Amino acid sequence: MTESRTPGSAPASTAAPARLTASNGHGSAVAAQMISHELFNNGTRRWYYFGRDPEREDHVIDTNEYLVVNAGKAMLLDPGGLEIFPSVVSAVSRQVELHDIEVLFSSHQDPDIVSSLSLWTGLIPDVQVYVSWVWSKFISHFGGGEALVSIPDEGMRIPLGGSEELEAVPAHYLHSSGNFSVYDPTARILFSGDIGAALLPDDHREIFVRDFDQHTAYMEGFHRRWMPSNRAKQHWVERVGRLKIDLLCPQHGAIFAGADIGRFLNWFSELDVGSAIP
Ligand code: FE
Repeated sequence: MTESRTPGSAPASTAAPARLTASNGHGSAVAAQMISHELFNNGTRRWYYFGRDPEREDHVIDTNEYLVVNAGKAMLLDPGGLEIFPSVVSAVSRQVELHDIEVLFSSHQDPDIVSSLSLWTGLIPDVQVYVSWVWSKFISHFGGGEALVSIPDEGMRIPLGGSEELEAVPAHYLHSSGNFSVYDPTARILFSGDIGAALLPDDHREIFVRDFDQHTAYMEGFHRRWMPSNRAKQHWVERVGRLKIDLLCPQHGAIFAGADIGRFLNWFSELDVGSAIP
């Protein structure tokens, strides 16, 4: 199968809901779905983006979820909060059978990342949940604690469908004290968690960064306030700067592709963070 990826030129379909479903049996109500977009497909490995949940209430921050499929087995990255669980299940189940999800990955402990934990472990009893050892006993308060696998500080390979390629890359203090990115050297995709996150206007539907300079306006306040450590920031920038990355995928906001990845790393490197300290 021909490898496909969609970095800099997202088709028009990304701006529209992935599926419209008649929902009330009277033909009048139509429920919009999260945007769903295939980021990579080489026939064995696939990556999907899900986001911009139209069912999300205004008081709930928008999040991006990502699904990696390898040889028919799947890993869901930052599965999301309780509020969006039905939308994420609906979107994911259009790409894989739910029982083929072997791994949930949690970049850190926040409620928008993983407060849905007990719902997922209830739905998929055999699923394993990878999270920093710093947080495993804390997020067990969301339930589902017996499914947790603690990631050591130095990171680890996360097996999926017979592959040992997917790597949890340390991103501690960015923003959480136990925090990981995920790198896939085959798809050349880096899932960066809250690093690269942008707080976009509610009517912003584009899933790729189109104008980097304009996009910094949506990122700057978040990174200055949520990221506490310039030293941690520099360490991560230098480490991921050595990786071959075609797509850098954050948990909020838009995806960086091509030259915008280098622009982001430079911008982040030069940004002074920890803004709450006068
Ligand atoms: Fe967070």
